[in-house]
Amino acid sequence: MPKRDLVLLALDNDTILQLMQRALQAAAYETALASDRTVLNKIIQETVPALIMLGEQFDGLPGVKIAREILERFPTMPILIYAEQESLVLYKEVLQAGLSGCLYPPLRNDDITGSVERSLQRARNLGDWLRREVKRTTASLERRATLSESELKRYEFIFANIQDGVLILDEAGRIQLTNRTMEVAFDLPGKEVRGKMVSDVIDHPDIVSLLKRAQSLPLKYHEINFDDGRIYNAQYTPIGGFGSVITMQDISYLKQLDRMKNEFVHTISHDLRSPLTSVLGYTELIQRVGSINEQQIEFLDRIRSSVESITALVNDLLDLSRLEAGFDTRREFVHLENVLKFALDTMDGQFKVNDLKLQLDVGKELPELRGNPIRLRQLLDNLLSNAVKYSAKGSTISVSLQAEDSQIIFRVKDEGVGIPQSEQARIFEKFYRASNVPDQVGGSGLGLAIVKSIVDSHQGRIWVESAMGKGTTFFVVLPAHNPDKIPVINEPGH
Ligand code: ADP
Repeated sequence: MPKRDLVLLALDNDTILQLMQRALQAAAYETALASDRTVLNKIIQETVPALIMLGEQFDGLPGVKIAREILERFPTMPILIYAEQESLVLYKEVLQAGLSGCLYPPLRNDDITGSVERSLQRARNLGDWLRREVKRTTASLERRATLSESELKRYEFIFANIQDGVLILDEAGRIQLTNRTMEVAFDLPGKEVRGKMVSDVIDHPDIVSLLKRAQSLPLKYHEINFDDGRIYNAQYTPIGGFGSVITMQDISYLKQLDRMKNEFVHTISHDLRSPLTSVLGYTELIQRVGSINEQQIEFLDRIRSSVESITALVNDLLDLSRLEAGFDTRREFVHLENVLKFALDTMDGQFKVNDLKLQLDVGKELPELRGNPIRLRQLLDNLLSNAVKYSAKGSTISVSLQAEDSQIIFRVKDEGVGIPQSEQARIFEKFYRASNVPDQVGGSGLGLAIVKSIVDSHQGRIWVESAMGKGTTFFVVLPAHNPDKIPVINEPGH
């Protein structure tokens, strides 16, 4: 039996300590001494001894308590407790804590080395058993990691009857299994694709980008658009130790419904506009055709302000449906700093009324971008007016416009109410207003949906950082015009 095992002795009683040290060294064990709990922990951490001999009391604490803490970090560590007197209570505690045993005086050398040897042997047996179990489980997992023929047949049968498309890949990205829906969707030649790299078999750009994103930033939902109008929703699920699964559902009919809903909203909004304009016109005319009293004037004012807010809502809805329908095709060279300047000039009054301070930081010689100046102005207006709307009087709004790596970065930061963390992902949805919007602050919840559509149609990105009660920052990144990349086409004249 190997006798170079290290036994760590942690005992307050010096005489016993020396006795044990001599006995163990005589039996060719290595020993280390811990004078207090700090040293004890340090030695355990650095050397991981084969066994620890702890006093019933050590450094002011019960040995069993210290042992329990050690076992939390090293669950298989053999620990013996030395006590001055034999005690049933202690023996029960030692058993309950899962320690190796107790030692009591009178102690002969053989008692000490015998107990140590038995405890070490038990620990070795436990270690061997653990290693065997781990090996057995790993081997069984490894067997599971590749599908056997019979398993494949069973899965094939199940998947063949599922409406969703299923594609199973191994860790290297080789196709393990595809079902009929998947084969029809991508026009795959059935089982022949098995074992081939997915990238060699499916070159659909949406699947290529899904797999690319899956490595770094997996998305929960991914749309796969086909030229014939079919649209699928795909999910990528990594399966540790095996590979991954892509599943797809046909959502063409949902998209169709969405389109119909948008068209309906568009038509209604469009048809509402003319009667609203005429209501507004007549409220103005009433005052011109005859005298009316104070109260009537007040009522007319109320009608006007209500009609104006419905008109604003209808205009937002129309805007959104135009943007979503992809009508925003106008592209010109735009200097965003000029658009920003105009936007800020018109908002000057709102800044003054609310006693807001503006901190402006615009980079020098910013590159231009290709975009629709009217939509970009709308984007800036919406973000700036939100910053004003949700800020407290007297606070500061910081606006910055900078260029970085052929991108233009717009940032608007306020010190206002903030947006609850759990709702930040939803604020770009149509009609969504966060739960903490102050009662007196009006709005339709459409502004950010419009902003998001404008950013999307300019191939940009938008995100928000916000802390409740501290403030909110919106970031917009738009690609700058790159004369080397995009050929300059004639200016569209509409
Ligand atoms: P609304 O008309 O309600 O302002 P938006 O679409 O512009 O609609 O914004 C959606 C929601 O996002 C708002 O209702 C508000 O809860 C939140 N929000 C937007 N901008 C800010 C901001 N600067 N500070 C705090 N909350 C904001």
